[in-house]
Amino acid sequence: MKRLGIIGHPLSHSISPEFHQAALDHHEIKADFYRWEIKEDELSSFFKTIQDANFLGASVTIPYKEKCLDFLGKVTDSAKLIGAVNCIVNENNQLIGYNTDGSGFIRALKTKHGFNPQSKKVLLIGAGGAAKAIAYSLLKENIDQLTIANRTVARGDKLAETLKSIAPKINSIKLERESLIEPLSDVDLIVNTTSIGMKNGPAPEHSPIPEDLIPRNAMINDIVYNPIETPLIKAAKIKKAPTIGGLDMLVYQGVEAFELWTNKHAPETIMYDAAQKALGL
Ligand code: NAP
Repeated sequence: MKRLGIIGHPLSHSISPEFHQAALDHHEIKADFYRWEIKEDELSSFFKTIQDANFLGASVTIPYKEKCLDFLGKVTDSAKLIGAVNCIVNENNQLIGYNTDGSGFIRALKTKHGFNPQSKKVLLIGAGGAAKAIAYSLLKENIDQLTIANRTVARGDKLAETLKSIAPKINSIKLERESLIEPLSDVDLIVNTTSIGMKNGPAPEHSPIPEDLIPRNAMINDIVYNPIETPLIKAAKIKKAPTIGGLDMLVYQGVEAFELWTNKHAPETIMYDAAQKALGL
């Protein structure tokens, strides 16, 4: 029996095992998908014992997306630039690190929602780990303009500086009403990557941008998936703006990982349905 799994701590909230197992079963691949809830001081021995011909690969989640780079034989250039790995593939007993967060985000945007980001103006709210992966992938799609709005401006500035080698048209602003007015007046896509609006997060009842400033004709994408309808998504729907929730990115980073592990086309709808079921929806 082949083995796959998700590495992180804690993992009780993770629905990856459910949607990956559904995809493996669909293709009749004889493999089990495990929850590997590992403490940091166990990482080194875990990576030594896991690596045999039956190990196909793993997803990596918080808090090991950066730390796992120390244990890998090779890391793709994009994962290196993003500074984080969320997918490990066992290629002939060499562990290769990939980042599918950004590519999964783009795939959901383009294939599921028919939104092509090329030549578009994008407002990215947040400058943490998820923002970095998404910003990198959006710039690779030749967007016209990227504005990063973050509470801690220095962190947004640093992200903009890192990414300027890919595309020069990047601004960094403070996440506050006054600074948001101008970028929001002419924007095609808004992506929330902060934990504002997340259940049990720092501000579960709030939208990251003032609700009265949400434009009607921009695509509003919130990567927070718990709850499925965040305050931002609810406010955007009231304005009748098109919306994308965070479950899409979660499932499509898994779709990209599944294809790297198995070389088979991922059954996207089956994975999405399994993810919804795991969340009790
Ligand atoms: P992270 O690296 O810790 O970054 C957190 C971001 O949120 C930073 O920009 C931070 O701003 C901002 N923030 C936190 N609390 C805030 C507050 N009270 N007011 C304003 N800004 C605040 O986290 P991450 O890994 O990028 O994850 C961020 C969110 O995305 C989480 O909710 C996570 O669940 C979600 N996520 C979803 C997916 C998916 O597949 N759908 C994937 C990854 C992450 P500062 O820099 O000022 O601290």
